[in-house]
Amino acid sequence: MNTVIGVDIGGTKIRMGVIDADGQILAERQVPTEFPLYPHLEKQVLLFLAEHRDISAIGIGTHGFVDSKAGRIVFAGDMLPGWTGTEVRALLEKATGKRVEVENDANCAALAEVKFGAAKGLSRVVCITLGTGLGGGIIWDNKLISGGPHGGAAELGHMVLYPNGARCGCGRLGCAEQYVSGTAIKRRIKEAGLSLAPLELFERAASDAQARELVEQFAEDLAIYISTLQAIFDMEMLIIGGGVSESAGAWFDELQRQLEKVLLNPLSVEVAQFENDAGMLGAALIVLDS
Ligand SMILES: [Zn+2]
Repeated sequence: MNTVIGVDIGGTKIRMGVIDADGQILAERQVPTEFPLYPHLEKQVLLFLAEHRDISAIGIGTHGFVDSKAGRIVFAGDMLPGWTGTEVRALLEKATGKRVEVENDANCAALAEVKFGAAKGLSRVVCITLGTGLGGGIIWDNKLISGGPHGGAAELGHMVLYPNGARCGCGRLGCAEQYVSGTAIKRRIKEAGLSLAPLELFERAASDAQARELVEQFAEDLAIYISTLQAIFDMEMLIIGGGVSESAGAWFDELQRQLEKVLLNPLSVEVAQFENDAGMLGAALIVLDS
């Protein structure tokens, strides 16, 4: 059976798995992310590969803007210092002798959800990742919309939600990532003069008016953002993944209320099925499907 290695590179850890065409994880390993990143990655992949020689290819999913055609990191911010410009595919193919493909991690997560998860069987799906930042992946007629001349296609977190709003890591003002993400929720809490973890905020909203107002604002912004995505894509489903989606039980009803006000057409909105495994599974899929 065709098996591949999927690698998910995040700011704190690298996950590697041997994955078959059915999406089964046959073996896996997690190591800390260390810098300089490329030599560390190469060493870890070679160690893992030595135990799993019979795999056919290696898929890499990573934070940052990726030129997937060239297999190169166009831009990665402070989370992965020194990663910008790395020719990952060329270097790793030379080191391993295996075919290597590279893709943005949010795109990988979208692939995993469409192939094996919440959107299984659908062909037009938008997946947003509410983690530290706000990532996006778009599947259109079963294909990933990715790349672009600057590696920036489907960087959905950088759609402007509030003109002249909060400063974003990309240097501009008012990107959605500054209103709809884990970091954004923390900022809202701080600006309201509260000292709570996001999860506490969501829990407190049932009984506390100030907390409820913050959750309503978050849900309203997320709903407006989703309605804009619907106006562009009229997708069959929108999937919400990432760390913030793990507490969706506490804010999903409010989101549905806000969506009713702003959606153009009915839309199925679901929480992602895969949490930690999505990036690794999706990274495997970029080499399993091609
Ligand atoms: Zn931005």
